[in-house]
Amino acid sequence: MPTSPVRVRFAPSPTGSLHLGNALTAVANRDFADSHGGALVLRIDDTDAERALAGGEEALLVDLEWLGIHWDEGPVRQSEQGDRYAEAAARALGGGAVGDADGSIRLDGITLVRSDGTATYQLASVADDLALGITHIIRGSDHRPNEVVQQRIARALGAELPPVVHHGLLLGKDGKKLSKRHGHASVADFREEGIPAPALRAYLDELGMPEHDVMLDESRIGRLAIDAIAALPDEELEAAAEAPAGLARALRGARTLVEAGEIAAQITSPVLRPLGDEARPTLERLAELRVRGADRLDEVGARELVREVKAVGGNLRTVRAALTGAERGAELWTVVAFLSRDETLARIAVALG
Ligand code: GLU
Repeated sequence: MPTSPVRVRFAPSPTGSLHLGNALTAVANRDFADSHGGALVLRIDDTDAERALAGGEEALLVDLEWLGIHWDEGPVRQSEQGDRYAEAAARALGGGAVGDADGSIRLDGITLVRSDGTATYQLASVADDLALGITHIIRGSDHRPNEVVQQRIARALGAELPPVVHHGLLLGKDGKKLSKRHGHASVADFREEGIPAPALRAYLDELGMPEHDVMLDESRIGRLAIDAIAALPDEELEAAAEAPAGLARALRGARTLVEAGEIAAQITSPVLRPLGDEARPTLERLAELRVRGADRLDEVGARELVREVKAVGGNLRTVRAALTGAERGAELWTVVAFLSRDETLARIAVALG
């Protein structure tokens, strides 16, 4: 017997940047659709006017695109399905639901339609899942209590709820649901910290559909971020760090894109100052060696220069301080290779005072 093609849905409420737990739901649905040659429908649960934030839908679309989670259909907005819900409400009335004097409609104590005539999440979700031909519902386990409720509604509509899988939630270190109190909870939080999209996506892919709640593994995300930065094409890394072309190799060791931006800024627009007498011998040797070199040094030349400064007793911390104004940052040869001879000599002059 041919089975119907898999159709899943991701149904966020438009409350702004996606909670990482919701992003996990999105990835779980995308990965499930992909592994079954199925389709992912994006549904926007915007029936609840108070929770629908201005710009909230846009923010979550930005997050989905940033994470590379594409959808095949939608967005289907619940606010635009009034006819579907009215039809479902009428059918429910024939299937055991009761209309109240105030205009609301209930089924076994579950409100399906409010007294103002609007459908609740429970009715809207079931009506949509049936109308959109959803074959599997995959969502966070905070919705577990909704399964029986929604099955009852589906039967009142003369149908069956598709099978539901509830995955575990993401928790903070204290075992409570991940929230801003833990420092970061939304996709935007991680983006602003400089975690590259491929790293966050890889983390969510690794989690898959956790059966139980899982504690957010920040060190794992950190390691994935270093790997992702190492793997970014030069131009993408330079763009993310707001660095000029040619600086990518100086940024490879950065742990976040924010740090990459800081390292780039040390090189392109450092805060320099005179370093005092003890720096003088190193700076004079550096100047002597550099003045003899080409306007731009290639990798071999730059590494060689650093080696020579060290070989004649120069202090590499002094070299770094003179050229970047910082105590740590990029590998020194990458700085030497990026700066022209004149720029290098000008910085040495500032350091000499
Ligand atoms: N709008 C609900 C949420 O964001 C979706 C519930 C569901 O997947 O049925 O949690």
